[in-house]
Amino acid sequence: MSNLRFKAVRASFNKKPIPVDTPDKLPSEYFGELTFTRAKMKEYLDHKTYEALIDCIDNGKPLSLAIADEVASGMKKWALEHGATHTTHWFQPLTDSTAEKHDSFLEYDGKGGMIEVFDGKVLIQQEPDASSFPNGGIRATFEARGYTAWDPTSPVFIQGDTLCIPTVFLAYTGEALDYKTPLKKSLKALTEAALPICELFDKNVRKVKAYLGWEQEFFLVDEELYAARTDLTLAGRTLMGHESSKSQQLDDHYMGFIPARVVNFMRELEIAAFKLGIPLKTRHNEVAPNQYEIAPIYGEMNLSNDQNQQVMNLMNHVARKHGFVVLLHEKPFAGINGSGKHNNWSLGTDTGVPLFAPGKDAAGNLQFLTFLVNTLIAVKRYNGLLKASIASSTNAHRLGASEAPPAIISVFLGQAMTSVLKKILEVPSDTPIEIMGKHGKKIGLVEIPEILIDNTDRNRTSPFAFTGNRFEFRAVGSSANCAGALTTLNAAVADQLTSFYASLSKDLSSGKDLRIAIMDLLKPMIKEALDTICFDGNGYTEEWKKEAEKRGLDTESCVPRMFTAFTEHEAVEMFRRTGVYTVKELIARNEVKWETYVKKVQIEARVIGRMAMNHVIPAALEYKTRLLKSVSLSKEIFPEEYLATSGPEIELAKEVSNLIAEIRADVDALIEARKKANVIEDIFEKALAYHEVADMIEVVRKPIDRLEELVDNDLWPLPKYRELLFIN
Ligand code: ADP
Ligand code: MG
Repeated sequence: MSNLRFKAVRASFNKKPIPVDTPDKLPSEYFGELTFTRAKMKEYLDHKTYEALIDCIDNGKPLSLAIADEVASGMKKWALEHGATHTTHWFQPLTDSTAEKHDSFLEYDGKGGMIEVFDGKVLIQQEPDASSFPNGGIRATFEARGYTAWDPTSPVFIQGDTLCIPTVFLAYTGEALDYKTPLKKSLKALTEAALPICELFDKNVRKVKAYLGWEQEFFLVDEELYAARTDLTLAGRTLMGHESSKSQQLDDHYMGFIPARVVNFMRELEIAAFKLGIPLKTRHNEVAPNQYEIAPIYGEMNLSNDQNQQVMNLMNHVARKHGFVVLLHEKPFAGINGSGKHNNWSLGTDTGVPLFAPGKDAAGNLQFLTFLVNTLIAVKRYNGLLKASIASSTNAHRLGASEAPPAIISVFLGQAMTSVLKKILEVPSDTPIEIMGKHGKKIGLVEIPEILIDNTDRNRTSPFAFTGNRFEFRAVGSSANCAGALTTLNAAVADQLTSFYASLSKDLSSGKDLRIAIMDLLKPMIKEALDTICFDGNGYTEEWKKEAEKRGLDTESCVPRMFTAFTEHEAVEMFRRTGVYTVKELIARNEVKWETYVKKVQIEARVIGRMAMNHVIPAALEYKTRLLKSVSLSKEIFPEEYLATSGPEIELAKEVSNLIAEIRADVDALIEARKKANVIEDIFEKALAYHEVADMIEVVRKPIDRLEELVDNDLWPLPKYRELLFIN
């Protein structure tokens, strides 16, 4: 029975690094080779078409069908030169992955032959038969069809033999059925809300841009071992497994030497990413054994998020060549670190001024503070909503469930910024805010250290941290589409900036000085933020949970309940004002979230039940039989004193028996709970019932892990943590 396990262990141990096919050019020379960049647009489009397309990309001007035909014709030429034979609209439905349906360029030419065709219509819009994507009832009630529409702000790219066109995905009735549409709406809201504030400081600012730099954490597992674990293949995480005697306690993995096979995987991934114009920058070992991280240079948010999706797709593809499977699950292994995806989030002007970094002078610093403090207030006001935006059945194991830190959103500011804010509360509103050391010997100044980046002590327990020139939304899960969290963050900050600007305009029109008006408005906001959302301590403690409750922060830890934040009045109004989600979309999306939650927990419950019955109990029974045979043999040979000599076997057999009985009872209870949950009609109530099922899964696990410790290693059928977690 355990043959499969040992074969898998041996195969994974004997693996040699797979050589990487390295281009004989520098990365800078082949960077973006498979992306239709601006340079390529210029090369492949005539001047008029190029100008129209750039105006569309930069300023949102619509493209005529005639121009779209021209664009498509240039793209086709480029794509054919690079070996493309197919095209697809590439979109991001409300699942864990992207979607694509390839069509070849081939058409009849009407003269008995074939030609390659790709025109503006195909580029701009398609109607994938997509009725089985999650839609929360939107498409069932109205139109069965959805359509995809080209997003010109994200360049088309070639993957394999296919020209991929990034698109939004909508219902015919207009509701978004994807992640990209609301992200784009939130970006519009945010950048437009920030602009008038920036204009007060510099009339030359024409545009504000929002940036994202994601840090993707993941685990690698050898594919043979993966294949021998049904829980990994079906649920993406181990549902059982005793912790390894050695795991992460020696801190010897984090930023350690990257194993040769892994580094080759990363190099190949980077080469593929560079060709697609994805600026991967960092690669390193993470804290847990077999855990790694990659991160790009940050970029404009919509594009950077598309690139994260592309990389997530690529990762698995490339990993298989190197004999690995990538685990993007937030908590594939109990007892060691889980995986997140820090979303480094910031704003900047088209004049090159970052809005979350100290400025060049007192005015620049005031602008910085304005954006910082408004963000704090937005996060405070919508902390429950932001938590809901990162919540999922899988991320719950990093935030809120057993072993995870409490599910509370707070902001880490760092000592330097906290004392700047405290100082502001003490000084008159006309006090200039200077960069430390730049002002001679004046007193009463508020001083900001010039470089904050190295001043922040990088509290790793904070779900939302200020790190000197940006915020890091760290609660985002490794398997998530960043857009889910970013859309909510963008909208919340946009709404806050708009309301701040309205108050400021009122004060300015009554003749108040800009600096004083801003400081007067910021002071009570600073006080509010410091008293509530700002927390620099250890977010993993029980004391913080109590303190957060006192501060009025959302401490809900049940994922299905968290989602209700999206349909509370305040959130609905905020999303309406910012034009990001309609109430219908919010309701539909919550349905999708509850459904997904139910299905994922249901899969886990089925898997653990079957593994318990088909793998674990048979192995345990086999071991028990051996023990009892030994006892019976003793009895035959030493009928007088066998009880005295067979004590350990008898004890062990009893313990194994008891654990088997416990597993059996727990599995039965789990099945009962599922049966009850399955007949519940209301999807929210059903998700609540499945929340209980999720807890029961952890209960079933305990006796199984104990058995793993007891049963003869040779009989245990499943690769153990110590085998799964240490790539050689
Ligand atoms: P860490 O120390 O947090 O692991 P890094 O310095 O590697 O971080 O940066 C993490 C990510 O943050 C990278 O993708 C980087 O490009 C991005 N980043 C840096 N500055 C900004 C910024 N101003 N706005 C958005 N992202 C940024
Ligand atoms: Mg970081």
